[in-house]
Amino acid sequence: MGMGTGMGMASGSAAEGEAVSGAQLIAESLKAQNIECMFGIVGIPVTEIAIAAQAVGIKYVGMRNEQAACYAASAVGYLTGRPGVCLVVSGPGFLHALGGMANATMNCWPLIVIGGSSDRNQETMGAFQEFPQVEAGRLYNKLSVRPSSLEVIPAIIEKAVRTSMYGRPGSCYIDIPGDFVNLQVNKSSVKYVECCLPPPVSKAECSAVSKAVTIIGLSKQPLLIIGKGAAYSHAENNIRKLVDLCGLPFLPTPMAKGVVPDNHPNCVAAARSTALQHADVIILLGARLNWILHFGLPPRFRQDVKVIQIDICAEELGNNVRPAAILLGDINAVTKQLLEEFGKRPLKYPSNTEWWKRLREKIMTNEERSKGLALQKSLPMNYYTVFHHIRELIPKDCILVSEGANTMDIGRTMLPNYYPRQRLDAGTFGTMGVGLGFAIAAAMIAKDRTPEKRVICIEGDSAFGFSGMEVETICRYNLPILIIVVNNNGIYTGLDADTWKEMSNFGDLATCVPPVSLLPNSHYEEIMSAFGGKGYFVKTPEELQNALKASLTDKQTPSLINVMIDPQSERKKQVCVCFPFFFCKLHVGKPLKSSGSIT
Ligand code: ADP
Ligand code: MG
Repeated sequence: MGMGTGMGMASGSAAEGEAVSGAQLIAESLKAQNIECMFGIVGIPVTEIAIAAQAVGIKYVGMRNEQAACYAASAVGYLTGRPGVCLVVSGPGFLHALGGMANATMNCWPLIVIGGSSDRNQETMGAFQEFPQVEAGRLYNKLSVRPSSLEVIPAIIEKAVRTSMYGRPGSCYIDIPGDFVNLQVNKSSVKYVECCLPPPVSKAECSAVSKAVTIIGLSKQPLLIIGKGAAYSHAENNIRKLVDLCGLPFLPTPMAKGVVPDNHPNCVAAARSTALQHADVIILLGARLNWILHFGLPPRFRQDVKVIQIDICAEELGNNVRPAAILLGDINAVTKQLLEEFGKRPLKYPSNTEWWKRLREKIMTNEERSKGLALQKSLPMNYYTVFHHIRELIPKDCILVSEGANTMDIGRTMLPNYYPRQRLDAGTFGTMGVGLGFAIAAAMIAKDRTPEKRVICIEGDSAFGFSGMEVETICRYNLPILIIVVNNNGIYTGLDADTWKEMSNFGDLATCVPPVSLLPNSHYEEIMSAFGGKGYFVKTPEELQNALKASLTDKQTPSLINVMIDPQSERKKQVCVCFPFFFCKLHVGKPLKSSGSIT
């Protein structure tokens, strides 16, 4: 007769046979499902689960806010195809993680969240942090469940991991009552299960493939749109072949950048609006016709555009636009089917058509425009100048994490990606606050697989504020992440220090300061130096170059470069009355756009 190792005995201990605690069962079951990483914040009642996870060889990364922990775990799912786990305490801890669950499900990324909850025998009594977590989890998850006993924990965990990955990926929540954690059962009564099989690979109907190839063959102005579903399905090699074989112009959505390298001659990202507006046939590979793609509707698309839709999720097919051909299946497999069909009926879209000419002209004009802005010598710098210098110095194979409004939008056009799954941003949900969690996840993954790969996290100053304390997490685990804060003293735009001071002298800041403004010239880099990393405050291109070179050369130390830019950069300036007798510069002219708007 043996005893469970590690965990203390509790009431309900096994009478005979080898005993195992709830915490151990959870850890062993996650390990059996090949889970590598857990992110979370410990406390009552989940601390033992984190300890048990470490004991079975799962990495546990303690974070500073459950939101960031949950974003980190979800990024592991996107980057590796197997969910990361987020571990949270009951009530508020669980609620903080909802943002991460929603973000993962919106992005179609697999994720497992394990939440402690109050003891079963205190339910409805006003227990410590009591909350209807399973019910609350339903809206955000593909599956929201509580195991009915310790014995079924392995089966529930297998089901959650499988559900998170099969079909359209998403988040799954498992609720663990506090009294389960230290409770023990005989191993002999536990329903152990094997690791779930990899997601089944489904192919499209042959007739649909044939129809798609016919439509593409008749197209005068074709466009291939590559979405993050294509990146997730590791379809890069086949998509690259399709582009090369058929000579198709292609446009990546933000996180699909790099599936085919941005510097491929057929990439028309710099002519995005023209390509979308005039394409007569669109091959949609793992992207939804949602706000990111202007719903596939006029005036951003042709009324008569023929959409060939390829997706793993049947319910997605036909959303907003009636497709000309429906290819339900795994992107990689379906792309292979298309390649085989093109093998039988070769098609090479000529590179000298009017369509290509129009796209190339647009690419040239747009690139000239950003080049002009990038080379402006005036100080403070604008976004384009900052991104120009970053682009010149960062390695080609770095992982780029990006969030903010202008910082993310302009950065996306200025910073190329050459490899798949190396760009992480605010995504489908346009979530601010994901950056540091994503960067931590990417660095954890890179540490084991590709230690030479740097993670560079480019944040707006407002975006950075959402999870700035994760800098401590970065320093604690020695993750050599480079954070660049592009600081314009605000959200969209900010005020300069002089205007701010005038306002402070005038009266109540809360009633007169534009709601978009943040404290001017904040020294965010000191947050990094506070925890032992390197911080740089830069105002000029030379200072930026030097800080970048120093941070990139030092491959061991986390660093943060706080780049001051013109607080009114890229926005029309106009003087307006914002308070009696007081004049301030405010963003006027353009309506404020939602964060992460794609123009
Ligand atoms: P983007 O933000 O890049 O436009 P979306 O997140 O809107 O991309 O769309 C991704 C799509 O990819 C989703 O509709 C999802 O169902 C689909 N998808 C995810 N994995 C696969 C896969 N393996 N095969 C096919 N489609 C997939
Ligand atoms: Mg800002």
